[in-house]
Amino acid sequence: MKTLARLLILTTFCLSSVLSDAATPASEVGKFDFMTRSVLLNNGHRMPIVGLGTYSLSDEQCYNSVTTLLKEGGRLIDTAFMYHNEEAVGRAVRDSGIDRSEIFVITKLYPTQYDEPQQAIEDALAKLDIGYIDLLLLHHPGEGDVKAYKAMEQALALGKVKSLGLSNWYVKELKDFLPKVSVKPVLVQNEIHPYYQENDVIPYIQSLGIVVQGWYPLGGRGHTKELLEDKVINEIAKDHGVSAAQVVLRWNLQKGVIVIPGSSNPLHIRENLDLFDFYLTDEEMSRINALDRGEKHDWY
Ligand code: NAP
Repeated sequence: MKTLARLLILTTFCLSSVLSDAATPASEVGKFDFMTRSVLLNNGHRMPIVGLGTYSLSDEQCYNSVTTLLKEGGRLIDTAFMYHNEEAVGRAVRDSGIDRSEIFVITKLYPTQYDEPQQAIEDALAKLDIGYIDLLLLHHPGEGDVKAYKAMEQALALGKVKSLGLSNWYVKELKDFLPKVSVKPVLVQNEIHPYYQENDVIPYIQSLGIVVQGWYPLGGRGHTKELLEDKVINEIAKDHGVSAAQVVLRWNLQKGVIVIPGSSNPLHIRENLDLFDFYLTDEEMSRINALDRGEKHDWY
């Protein structure tokens, strides 16, 4: 039954992905569709709202985790030059036998590459070896970021990259950066979890028609214990018969934040995709909102 439901969702995702290129109704941009588990971006492309993060995964772990994700019906993968595993991501995508158009791969240029951005883009394309990059991000603000983004705009025009975005850009950084470039980013990826909620930044980004994606959704590798043992989150999890991780991920989705939990554990990867059979009430959302401490777990 679950397999049939998954097939239906994937078919709907592919169909709507094609349809959305023809017409992008402004009112639909950025709205999460929990049926197709996807969101319409401001350039007409559609992307999944739940995926897998690959930071700190070795080549072998990364290959196995991406393979598990794809087998379990997940279609969104986040990698970066800095994670040194783009090659493993690409190999797992190719070996999956799944149609390329169904899969959405994000990678990022690192500030050390902003000097030679064309070369950096070609390197990422060669390492991934999956034809094109679905979404290319600048990993952090840094010297030469405008020049790098302009090279990304050229790659976009050539079809090497389908969408552009930013990571670790906040309100001030966006206000400085956006007037200097031509193509509006479709997405900004920032640290977001119940202990660091970015309640001032998320609505600002969304008001620009840009989708928000959270990194460290579970608090970050090495920092998850306290969050996943949090009393409030566990009370809510118990009431729904789900795990603490699923509550945190679902809270993100209901705030309109795309999640890319990192994992090398097949059981966790499966669990992290299984977020659509329960709903957090307004009261439960408020209780999690009240956990904010402005506690950043990594600094960029
Ligand atoms: P995370 O997703 O917050 O947490 C990953 C940790 O949670 C791992 O230790 C994992 O262990 C554990 N975990 C995963 N699912 C679980 C579950 N269902 N139950 C219990 N534990 C679970 O941290 P992250 O992977 O560092 O961050 C997510 C992704 O964001 C990264 O992989 C990367 O793609 C991206 N990121 C981006 C930036 C940026 O600057 N743009 C920075 C950091 C990260 P197991 O392996 O045992 O499952």
